[in-house]
Amino acid sequence: MCEKCGRHIEEGEYKCESCREKRISIDFSRSCVYYDDISSSIVKKFKYSNRRDMGLFISAIMYEKMLTEAEYADIDFITYIPFSYFKRHNRYYNHSALLAENISELSGIPLCRDIISQRLISIPQAKLSDSMRIKRPQMFKRGKNKIKAGKILLIDDVLTTGRTISDASSAIKKFNEVQKVCALTFAC
Ligand SMILES: [Zn+2]
Repeated sequence: MCEKCGRHIEEGEYKCESCREKRISIDFSRSCVYYDDISSSIVKKFKYSNRRDMGLFISAIMYEKMLTEAEYADIDFITYIPFSYFKRHNRYYNHSALLAENISELSGIPLCRDIISQRLISIPQAKLSDSMRIKRPQMFKRGKNKIKAGKILLIDDVLTTGRTISDASSAIKKFNEVQKVCALTFAC
């Protein structure tokens, strides 16, 4: 496992290629489960079938994971990946926000909102080819709020390329006074 982003790598390695080449800018990230047939069907039900109960299930597992890592012990605020107008209208809710709200409630760590906002990008990321993903502009801009914190926990459901979390982390640091951004996702 990559010591920085938590993705699977060859035995004997410490960091994945993306982290070695500094393509992922996150201070620390961990996931609870592998992104396989089972976890992806749970995530899809939660995201696209209006199954908020699945969100409670996922959040509970994420909170358990949070308790096992020392890096998550001194978090000041919890936040989530904001949604663009376009994406929001394809879904029932911002799933990342819902998970963050649940984890905030379970942990007692306050939630902070709108510290970054998403730029309007008209094509969902899943439909972009790899080369377009590399070329596309930064996903996030300044949010309505600005905070000062030592460590922020950024919540999302799945970490794949790490690009979304990396962009969000950079934007959080750019537009706020935040020392460290750690991420926690359900699957990777
Ligand atoms: Zn990595």
